[in-house]
Amino acid sequence: MVVGNSTFVIAGQEVRPGCNKTVELQIPELYTHTPMVMPVHVVHGKKPGPVVFISGALHGDELTGTAVIRRLMQNKLLGQIRGTLLLVPIVNMYGFIHQSRYLPDRRDLNRCFPGSESGSLAARLAKLFMDEIVSLSSHGIDLHSGAIHRTNLPQIRANLEHPESRDMAMAFGAPVVLHSGLRDGSLRQAVDELGIPVILYEAGEALRLDEYSLRTGVKGIIEVLRSLSVIAPSRRRSIKAKNSFVALSSSWLRSQNSGMVFLTVALGDYVEDGETLGEIVDPLSERSTPIVSHQAGIVIGRSQIPLTNEGDALVHVAEAQAGIVAEELADLVSPLSSDGDIFP
Ligand SMILES: [Zn+2]
Repeated sequence: MVVGNSTFVIAGQEVRPGCNKTVELQIPELYTHTPMVMPVHVVHGKKPGPVVFISGALHGDELTGTAVIRRLMQNKLLGQIRGTLLLVPIVNMYGFIHQSRYLPDRRDLNRCFPGSESGSLAARLAKLFMDEIVSLSSHGIDLHSGAIHRTNLPQIRANLEHPESRDMAMAFGAPVVLHSGLRDGSLRQAVDELGIPVILYEAGEALRLDEYSLRTGVKGIIEVLRSLSVIAPSRRRSIKAKNSFVALSSSWLRSQNSGMVFLTVALGDYVEDGETLGEIVDPLSERSTPIVSHQAGIVIGRSQIPLTNEGDALVHVAEAQAGIVAEELADLVSPLSSDGDIFP
């Protein structure tokens, strides 16, 4: 006999098995007397299973996640899930209104986790998210875009030393999976430290939407939900899941001098160590400086603005020296995963 799911309680509201509900978390009002809420769309399955939060727009100008969640909500597969989805399309509502990455006090919400009740606005929002969303969740997927004037190849970032996070990262099937164990006050780090498996999806550019990033995002989330048995396996599955290029590190190539930038590399290009990736020119003279790669790898991010000051980040390269494709990773990590530390 299959046991049915129990009623899900979030922010004091009940969601019955097999039902959807949009719950509004109260957040501090604007100084205009305007009330503010953080909406959470709850999809609660008839059968028990994982509770997965999916968050977008922690950075208020990163619209990819909001659009991916919206498209996901319209997918028929969500009508028959096991477990529960907590969909939060706009976490930083204040930044979203102002088309800004930050909160009104210029704080970066994704550097203020796990937050506190008595701290800054960012700290209070972070604490609310941890208490109302993360504390109910068994898994998490956080959705981002590149910063303003920067675009990212669709990629997953995760702590690959956490076996369940690694499994989610590989199930997603993004072109690149980047190991990231940074201690940076991010939501991902705060969730990871609780032992909850979590991955971060990065794709596209702030304040822009592109179809490739949206499709890769929706498809990837569905594959992750399949891997967690939240969504049933596909009956029409004949094509093998795509391999991701796995990189254990990445670095930004910075401009050696100021000027106008002409980049000749695109997202997803493989570049060699010593390869010329474009040039920086002086607008008034013949001076031109080549932009030379200092490592081999795949271009996972690039500046979109053709102007640079010396030291600005131009091209983000996932390193090939340490990079391995997923098939090799499976061989490499499976025997080692029980040791808990796959990276020497
Ligand atoms: Zn972001």
